[in-house]
Amino acid sequence: MTRYIDVTDLSRLVAHKGLSTCISEMAEYIREDYLRWHDFEKCPRLANHSPDGVIELMPVSDRNLYAFKYVNGHPKNTQRGMLTVMAFGALGDVDTGAPVLLSEMTLTTAIRTAATSALAARYLARPDSRRMALIGNGSQSEFQALAFHTLLGIEEVRLYDLDPKASAKLVANLSAFPQLRVSIAGSVAQAVRGVDIVTTVTADKAYATILTPDMIEPGMHLNAVGGDCPGKTELHRDIVDRARVIVEYEPQSRVEGEIQQMPADSPTTEFWQVVSGQAPGRESADQVTLFDSVGFALEDYSALRYVLDVAKSLDIGHELALVPELANPKDLFAVLRQPLADTRKKRA
Ligand code: NAD
Repeated sequence: MTRYIDVTDLSRLVAHKGLSTCISEMAEYIREDYLRWHDFEKCPRLANHSPDGVIELMPVSDRNLYAFKYVNGHPKNTQRGMLTVMAFGALGDVDTGAPVLLSEMTLTTAIRTAATSALAARYLARPDSRRMALIGNGSQSEFQALAFHTLLGIEEVRLYDLDPKASAKLVANLSAFPQLRVSIAGSVAQAVRGVDIVTTVTADKAYATILTPDMIEPGMHLNAVGGDCPGKTELHRDIVDRARVIVEYEPQSRVEGEIQQMPADSPTTEFWQVVSGQAPGRESADQVTLFDSVGFALEDYSALRYVLDVAKSLDIGHELALVPELANPKDLFAVLRQPLADTRKKRA
C-alpha cells in the first residue's frame, strides 16, 4: 500500500509539530541531502510552457528512493481565484519501483522553499542580520518570514506588494507571531533601505526589475525566489553581474534563474559546494551575495522524506491502493475478477 497525504493530513502534521519546527527540521533534511550531492542522479526539470504559465516535472533519485514533483506556475491564476503554484509529488522504492508515498506538495513546497532560502542565507547573509525586506506578499510570503525568523533571527520585516490587500493579509497572518516587527512600505526602494536581507518572491511572467542597482547596499544578501522560468526574472542584470551568485543546480539555473541574463560562463557556485565547505559562502562583510533560487528536485526529495518520516511517527495519512497487490504477481488479470465478484456479492 502507498501512504497518501492530502492537504488536510499535511495541515494536521504541521499543527502537531508547529510550523517553525517543520521549517527547521526540513532545513536539516535539505542540508543532509545537499551534503550527499554526488549520491544523486540529477537532471534539470522538464518544463511545458504555455502563454500564461508552466507545468513542470522534477525527478531525482539516490540508491534508495526516487522522488518527483508535479508543479505549476501560473501568475494570473489568482485573478481566477486559484493559487499561482500548486503541486503534488511521490516517493518510490528504487529496488522495486513500488510507490511508497503520494503527497500534496503545495504547502510542502512553501515550507521547503522557505527552509531552503533561510538555510542558504545562513551561509550567505551577514551573521548579524536582523532586518529583511519581503517583496511579493502572496502565498509563499508567510513561510519566508517565519523561516528567516526561525533560522536566522530576523526580527523586523518590511513588506511591499503591488497589491495592498496581499500586504494586509500578510500583516494579519504574521500578527500571530508578535516577536516579528512587521511594517508595510510605500515602495520597493523604501522597503529595502537599510535592511540586511532582501527576499523577492513576486509572480509575473516577465523580465521584471523589482530590484535596481541603486537600491543595493554593501553587505546585503539577496534571496531571489520568484525568477524561476525562462523569461521570468526579478533583478536588474547589473546586480547579478556584481554579486557573489550561488545557484542550486547550474544546468537548470542557467535556463531558469536570474543568471539566464548572464553569459553562459558567468561565475556561479553551486550551493552543495558551500554546504560541504568546498567553496566559501560570504567572503566579506561588504560583499553583496545572491541566492538565485529556482527550486531544485533535491529539495523536494528531502521534503518528501521528511513528510514520510513525520507522517509515520504521528500515524498521519491513509493507505492507498495505488498499484495492485497480488497473491500471484503474474496474474494481474485477477484484479479485474475481484470487482466483478464484489458486485455479484452485493447483488446477491
Ligand atoms: P502569489 O501569486 O501568491 O504571490 C505573488 C505576489 O507578487 C502577488 O501578491 C503579486 O501582487 C506580487 N507581485 C507581482 N509583481 C510584483 C511587483 N512587480 N512588485 C511587487 N509585488 C509584485 O505567488 P506565490 O505562490 O507567493 O509565488 C511567488 C513566486 O515564487 C512565483 O513567481 C513562484 O513561481 C515562485 N516560487 C519559487 C520557488 C522556488 O523554489 N524558487 C518556489 C515556489 C514559488
